[in-house]
This record gives sequence, structure tokens and C-alpha cells, in this order.
Amino acid sequence: MTDQTPLERLHRVQELDLSLDQLRAEEKNYPEALRAARAEQDRLNNELEETEITLEGVEKRLKQAEFDLTSVRDQIAHARDEQEKNAFDARAQSQYGSRIQQLEERREEMEEDLAPLRERQRELTEKAGGLREQYRAGRPGLAELETQDEQRIADLRAQGEDSRNERAELVKNLDARTVKEYDMIRKAKKGQGIAEVKAGRCAACNVMLPVNIQQKVAQNKLPPVKCPSCGRFLIKLDA
Ligand SMILES: [Zn+2]
Repeated sequence: MTDQTPLERLHRVQELDLSLDQLRAEEKNYPEALRAARAEQDRLNNELEETEITLEGVEKRLKQAEFDLTSVRDQIAHARDEQEKNAFDARAQSQYGSRIQQLEERREEMEEDLAPLRERQRELTEKAGGLREQYRAGRPGLAELETQDEQRIADLRAQGEDSRNERAELVKNLDARTVKEYDMIRKAKKGQGIAEVKAGRCAACNVMLPVNIQQKVAQNKLPPVKCPSCGRFLIKLDA
């Protein structure tokens, strides 16, 4: 390794960086079973939430309807009392009679309206219970898959350990400014900071390089020559 030129070492740094990039990209490559289990638990959770919101609305309406019904029942009781108090008065009797009849009709209507609301409440409560049960049942399986995936990621990171150590070693023996600039170019170009010259062209952007640039690159010296088109460092590796 000692007979390598600084640029060759930098090129090796890039090989390591690219393989580390690949390992990092693989981390996000979640197994299908885990993806599916996460999606299913999310779906159950969202559906449960929606069901609970709908149920809340139904229960609010139900409460109001029950309150209104109680109030009509009170009005009926009150009218009956008044009717009794005025038992001797024929006109009052008939007035209260028709009032009671009206109220009774309303009471019946309200009782009829209550039945479907109660039915809906029962349905939604049952649905929410079922969803909660399904969600609970899916939890251990998902936890198991998540644990497996943590291990998969830990393995990938361990795989990168040798590359990271080799990189650190190489960088120690490289000019810090050159490495820093390489890192910046690599970041800006999202991948390669140094490109090979092949058949007179920059292998990264494929531009034909002027002869004087090719000659300078061939000297293999620092600071590195940059591609006039893409701005990457250039290196001529012996074939
Ligand atoms: Zn280029």
C-alpha cells in the first residue's frame, strides 16, 4: 500500500465510500414481510381511529336525543298534572288533552329515531372492539419482525466496519485539504468526487479532456487536476 501515490489512495478512499454508500442504501431496503406488517398495523390503527371518531359523534347525538326525550316526557307528566288539577273545567280538559296527544306523538317519533342511533352505536362499538383485537393480535408479530430487522441493520453496519477502518487509515496519510475538497465534491455530485481518465475522457461526465489536462493528470501530483466540465478530481490509473 505504501507504493501507492496519494491520488491512488484517494481513489481507494472513494471505492470504500461507494461501498459504504451501498450498505447505507441497503439499510432502507426493508424486507417485504416487515413492510406489509407495518402497513397492516397502520391501516388497523387508522381505521380504529376513524371508527372511534364516528362513534363519538353518534354517542353525542344519542345523548342529545335522550335528553330531548326526557324533556318531552317531563312535559307530558306536567300536562297530565295540570289536566288533573283542572278536572272540573271541560275546556281545560280538552286543551290539555290535545296538548298531551301532540306531545305523545313527538315522544313516539323520538323513540323511533333513537332505535337506529342505538343500533349504530352498537355496530360501531363492536367494530372498534374487533379492530382493537386485530391490532393487538398483530403486535407481537410486528415486534418480532422489527427485532429481526434491527439485527439485519446491525449486521450491515458491522460489514462496513472494515471499510471504515481502512478509510481512516488511508485518510491519515493524505493531505487534509485534498480529502476535504474530495468530500465536498462527492457530496455535491452525490457519489463520485474523483473520476478516472479513460481514453482521454472524464469517466464520470464523459467529456473529452484537452491534451494539456491529460498530461497534467498523468503526472499524478497534488493538488489534483479537476475536470473542466464536472469539477471532479481526475486520476489516471495504469491499465
Ligand atoms: Zn468530468
